Amino acid sequence: MKNWRLRPGQGRMRSILLSAACGTFLCLTACSGQRGDEMTAYTESLFAMDTYMTFTAYGANAEDALKQVCDRIAELEGLWSATDAGSEIYQVNHSGGQPVAVSGETEELVSFALAMAEETDGALEPTIYPVLTAWGFTTDENRVPAGNEIAERLATVGYEEVNIESGAITLEAGAMLDLGAVGKGYAGDEAVRILKDNGVSSALLDVGGNIQALGTKPDGSRWRVGLKDPFSGGVLGVIRVADEAVVTSGSYERYFIGGDGKKYGHIIDPATGYPVDNGLASVTVISGEGKLCDALSTALFVMGLERAEDYWRQRQGFDMILVTEDGNIYVTEGIKDQFSLQGEYRDMTVNVVEFE
Ligand code: AMP
Ligand code: MG
Repeated sequence: MKNWRLRPGQGRMRSILLSAACGTFLCLTACSGQRGDEMTAYTESLFAMDTYMTFTAYGANAEDALKQVCDRIAELEGLWSATDAGSEIYQVNHSGGQPVAVSGETEELVSFALAMAEETDGALEPTIYPVLTAWGFTTDENRVPAGNEIAERLATVGYEEVNIESGAITLEAGAMLDLGAVGKGYAGDEAVRILKDNGVSSALLDVGGNIQALGTKPDGSRWRVGLKDPFSGGVLGVIRVADEAVVTSGSYERYFIGGDGKKYGHIIDPATGYPVDNGLASVTVISGEGKLCDALSTALFVMGLERAEDYWRQRQGFDMILVTEDGNIYVTEGIKDQFSLQGEYRDMTVNVVEFE
């Protein structure tokens, strides 16, 4: 069926950002063209949520609106950081089983994550944090934990045990939330909302690799979003989008090589407590909502190719592009006409996933 394979190569380790840099953010504005012109592009960059973000928006109100976006994202980070002792999530995680009152947005995001955990049969598991810690992904001191340590940590995991009532979250003592799989998606949706409220109708936001498009380019054409080759970091293809988010999950984003020579990625299979190792290299989800894309890209990566295909057929409302470790590419039928391979990848076979 296929006549080309991606070449697994030296995946470059994502540069690990020191926790000292967490919580700080820097907003830089740049503009081009004539002030006030609908074609004028404004760009803001910031470091937040442990990642670099770059936002470009067009038109007279774009500059002000982007500053509001930066402020809002810094605010959300302040609520959700798992490592910052001042955050709401930190307080929930260290409450010894007591209820902790949280803001409306934290309640909304945790409720969403729990609903998606249920919907994905626990593939998305917002209480995976203690297991992630055992593997050192939260401190960048990576190690392969012993089997009994993983089992002990797994005993604390379970989205079913999280209680949300009257604006307060209660965890079992020892359980911990991690919104790392959904927070950037929510932040992207918030950014789009703020831009729209300010009358901006054209923007492309890179929320640490999560791409969020508002409208089209100012000339009316679709935005062209690059899909990364998970093995080399090159651009495998282009997805043309308008008013959509494009979010990718994969082990290549953050991983370490164990003493046994094996590659261990940052997305954990909650069924085993081990990093996902199911033959998928990356999952990209495309839909109108950033937080849905973010939740699903992580969950579908955990599910693996066949379960992901079944899930897509049954749930609908999104499209996806899957790249396997053996170099095959699968694209759902809803996005196939907006996707094209690039450069040296042009002759690859694209397997189209259909509703049947
Ligand atoms: P993403 O890049 O959106 O796929 O999210 C990956 C991040 O979510 C990881 O760095 C962890 O913080 C967290 N995580 C890892 N495994 C899971 C999982 N099975 N469910 C929910 N969050 C996870
Ligand atoms: Mg995610």
